[in-house]
Amino acid sequence: MEKQDRDAKRSVRGTVEVSHKKQIRNSILLATVLTAVFLVLYMTRTTSPKKVVTDGHTMKAVIQIDGKRVHTMELDKDAEYRAETADGNYNTVVVKDQSVRVEEADCKNQICVKTGAIHFPGEVIACMPHRMMIYIE
Ligand SMILES: [Zn+2]
Repeated sequence: MEKQDRDAKRSVRGTVEVSHKKQIRNSILLATVLTAVFLVLYMTRTTSPKKVVTDGHTMKAVIQIDGKRVHTMELDKDAEYRAETADGNYNTVVVKDQSVRVEEADCKNQICVKTGAIHFPGEVIACMPHRMMIYIE
């Protein structure tokens, strides 16, 4: 927060000193930032934690093994899926309360299990030993 304030002050001072061309560029940047802030606020307001829906599209957890989609799970339906690799290893994937997590796996490092639950697009659970990845779309 403090850092943001400092940056804001610096950019205001900078705008006064710079050339006209740079001012225009700064205005465009400011407009972009404002649009982004507005979008985030808008999405936060319309996304309730109980029901995660974007544009009437229910979010899905996509399970990939070796870069290939092997399974998709809708986040609004509690379910369990055993993702098996070609070598016979497994990750038990659980969808519950609008989120997805790896409940159990037979990998060495257990990082996928320790990652815990993910809820939003952009979040990822990876199991490197199994070349398995779960993401939300
Ligand atoms: Zn793992």
